[in-house]
Amino acid sequence: MTQSFDLIIVGAGIVGAACAAECAAAGLKTLVLDRGILGGGTTGAGMGHIVVMDDSEAQFALTEYSRRLWLQLRDQLSADVEYEVCGTLWVAADDEEMAEARRKEKYYAARNSRVEILDGQAVRRAEPNLRAGLAGGLRVVDDGVVYPPCAARFLMDTARRHGAEFRAGAAVRALLPEGGVALADGSRISAERSLNATGPWSPELTPGLPVRKRKGHLLITDRYPGFVHHQIVELGYLKSAHSVSKDSVAFNIQPRQTGQMLIGSSRQYDALGAEVDHDILTRMLARAVEYLPALATLSATRVWTGHRAATPDKLPLIGPSIDHDRVWLASGHEGLGITTSIGTGRLVADMLLGRKTEIPAEAYAPSRFVNYSPAHG
Ligand SMILES: Cc1cc2nc3c(=O)[nH]c(=O)nc-3n(C[C@H](O)[C@H](O)[C@H](O)COP(=O)(O)OP(=O)(O)OC[C@H]3O[C@@H](n4cnc5c(N)ncnc54)[C@H](O)[C@@H]3O)c2cc1C
Repeated sequence: MTQSFDLIIVGAGIVGAACAAECAAAGLKTLVLDRGILGGGTTGAGMGHIVVMDDSEAQFALTEYSRRLWLQLRDQLSADVEYEVCGTLWVAADDEEMAEARRKEKYYAARNSRVEILDGQAVRRAEPNLRAGLAGGLRVVDDGVVYPPCAARFLMDTARRHGAEFRAGAAVRALLPEGGVALADGSRISAERSLNATGPWSPELTPGLPVRKRKGHLLITDRYPGFVHHQIVELGYLKSAHSVSKDSVAFNIQPRQTGQMLIGSSRQYDALGAEVDHDILTRMLARAVEYLPALATLSATRVWTGHRAATPDKLPLIGPSIDHDRVWLASGHEGLGITTSIGTGRLVADMLLGRKTEIPAEAYAPSRFVNYSPAHG
């Protein structure tokens, strides 16, 4: 065994980086290890939408808390994080989706989240490139976007300023029950605790963890400044994102500061490779063109894929693992890990230090899966 740390974080995606920033700032002697590079996993493949979602009370609580923390950080973030509070525009194609927009409006407003209902004409005024005839939409005013790789780097720089150490190219083979880690090169590093923040790969280090890889495709366009102004998402997205059995696509577009647009998104289980699936990509783009017909005339520069870390109840796993109280988890953030990284980091630091958490954390405890069996999941 060499050296000793209070905490070893395995995984330098945005979740590991956010945990490192908070734990180092709280005074813990922190080491972060990644077998690749900072932000080179799902974080580098993600979209960077900072979004409050209401699939469950616990999901709303963590996304809203995290968005608040992003807003508080706003003035300190470096320019390359490209944080823009552009708002989310949820568009409703028909009356059924408009009813969903109204339900969401009530839910968010009752929890002090700023929202605004738009009729069909107001939606076109807000986003003139949307097709005519949409029923309306909902604007979530304080949602925004960041550029995930630079956001992760900013958080890791914060951790380093507070004394944390980061080692790239350090593959971990096992998390030791007594707290440290065993590296793939045969060496060991001791620590009071370890934290598995390896996202979609977390079951490799914590066998039996209820985390599945859920593949997504993204496409980025050339530069067309002002083509869209909000992150625009179809309300039909909620149906497809919630489907746990089928492959799905939904219209989701994000304006970047460069004038480029990121277009998503797809969801597939049991597609473990990184290759682009052209059927899915074609469906995804056809869906986007249905909403923004002029997109068909623009050019794209690149397409890529990434894997989300999905749990059966769509909530992350934050806290001590079921089997070993010195092995902690910060994983399973599915399609919300850029948003919730920062809230996760704060919860982990508060729990490790025995401080009261600012939002209840029980809903994210890995122990909720103590009797989990994949057959029932
Ligand atoms: C297409 C797509 C779009 C998305 N859009 C959004 C969005 O708009 N908003 C949002 O909030 N979220 C979004 N997400 C989700 C978000 O990207 C993820 O939830 C988030 O990046 C997860 O971060 P992480 O740090 O947990 O994992 P990762 O970024 O995957 O980091 C895990 C790290 O662990 C390392 N690692 C793995 N195994 C080991 C080992 N044995 N030893 C050492 N290191 C190891 C890997 O190298 C990797 O760097 C999207 C995801 C996808 C795929």
